[in-house]
Amino acid sequence: MKHVVIVGNGMAGHRVATRVHAARPEWDVTVVGAEPHAAYNRVLLTNLLAGRPDAERLTLPWPDGLPAPLTGHRATAIDRAARSVVLADGRELRWDRLVLATGANPVLPPVKGLVSDDGHLHPDAVAFRTLDDCRRIADLASRRRRAIVLGGGLLGLEAARGLAARGLEVHVVHAMGHLMERQLDPGAGAALAGALAELGVTCWTGAQAARVLGGGRMRGLVLADGRHVPGDFLVVSCGARPDTQLAAAAGLTTARGVVVDDHLRTSAPDVYAVGDCAEHRGVAHGLVEPAWEQARIAAEALTDGDPGPGYTGSAPLTRLKAEGLDLAAMGDVEAEEAHPDAEVLHFSHSGRHVYQRIVVRGERVVGAVLLGDAAPAGPLSRLYLTGARIPLDRRLLLFPGLAAGAQDTEPSDAVVCRCAHVTAEAIRRSRSEGARDTADVARRTHATTGCGGCRSAVERLLTEG
Ligand SMILES: Cc1cc2nc3c(=O)[nH]c(=O)nc-3n(C[C@H](O)[C@H](O)[C@H](O)COP(=O)(O)OP(=O)(O)OC[C@H]3O[C@@H](n4cnc5c(N)ncnc54)[C@H](O)[C@@H]3O)c2cc1C
Repeated sequence: MKHVVIVGNGMAGHRVATRVHAARPEWDVTVVGAEPHAAYNRVLLTNLLAGRPDAERLTLPWPDGLPAPLTGHRATAIDRAARSVVLADGRELRWDRLVLATGANPVLPPVKGLVSDDGHLHPDAVAFRTLDDCRRIADLASRRRRAIVLGGGLLGLEAARGLAARGLEVHVVHAMGHLMERQLDPGAGAALAGALAELGVTCWTGAQAARVLGGGRMRGLVLADGRHVPGDFLVVSCGARPDTQLAAAAGLTTARGVVVDDHLRTSAPDVYAVGDCAEHRGVAHGLVEPAWEQARIAAEALTDGDPGPGYTGSAPLTRLKAEGLDLAAMGDVEAEEAHPDAEVLHFSHSGRHVYQRIVVRGERVVGAVLLGDAAPAGPLSRLYLTGARIPLDRRLLLFPGLAAGAQDTEPSDAVVCRCAHVTAEAIRRSRSEGARDTADVARRTHATTGCGGCRSAVERLLTEG
């Protein structure tokens, strides 16, 4: 019997624990989590902020027979020589295999007055990462009228939409020239800002926040160019930095994240790292699909199972989960700048905030952004992920419904649940094995257990003729 210690009871740590327990039920698995809660689905926090699912549905199922995690306990050191982890209360946990799943910490930009000299965040500011942060934002939203979201990335915009849905006046302050600049081209960013304006969110782009306005009680932000943005509280969403503290202090190789190989092994023997804290081939992902895929492979590797070829990376594919905003983006949406041979297919309808841009190179989709009508996202992402040749008639990429005999059936290799990487074939198989509803399918395949955006597609597959 081996002792496995997992530091971090988040989405990746929970998945490693579940997999290790399934593969080796006789092994002793201990999960240590700094947050006081059971493991929960962090991806759904923005839905919770928008007043959608209740906290119960956020909780990730804990397998029978696996000892309850040590919640509310922080690991403070790794003793490599003694093969133990030290907790804040002085307890030591021995391990034969150690997994670091410590996630990431929000980045706090250098805005005067945001952090006090003794290191405390302004009382009217919240850096959005945890369930407790989410509850604090919801509490501020119930007592204040105007919110500022600092950061116009995916998470910031989902938070802004959620706050607007609660009836608040919302301002997004974004330092870069357009929203979601890592996923969108400037045209898509502008179209998205237009769609958000209609939903009650004002976007300030190219706007450097310089200082907090107001002392004990926030009144807004002052920008570097002197403009004032009004707001009674601030949600900080300026990205997250992998939490490498424990690993670095123990002498493991770290760069942006804890450096791992294709089997998620760190530089120290029998120590693995997965999820947002890990850096693989120079990339720290910060998304659930890579975190779960890494968790699966690490669990195989550390239980001496078959990890296959290992983790080879994840393709960038993004979907905004916000009511009234349909947005999907994948790959390099500005590839034509570096590659003059790239073709761009473009359709937009500004009055309806529809903006679609597909970049094709060598008969293959290398990037796409679909705003306002993400219907082509399914077939496009399949072409993008598999690298298959596109149809001769390019219009079919933008308007798949034009194809003769076009129908809704998903090809078997279509990835229906992106978070858990579940194909249409796997869902059809679980149906033929007796799955009757999405809960059955979730138990068998994990489909729908991430962002939940695939629920209707799974329901369709369960009822297709
Ligand atoms: C609001 C929000 C919305 C998101 N939406 C999406 C989305 O739509 N799609 C998507 O792909 N991704 C999304 N993400 C990102 C996704 O949640 C992460 O990629 C995923 O949670 C990574 O899992 P993880 O286990 O590596 O990290 P986490 O889930 O952050 O878990 C890490 C855990 O480790 C604990 N920990 C850290 N240090 C210690 C220590 N020393 N001792 C004990 N415990 C420790 C932390 O407290 C935390 O609970 C979102 C993130 C947020 C915050």
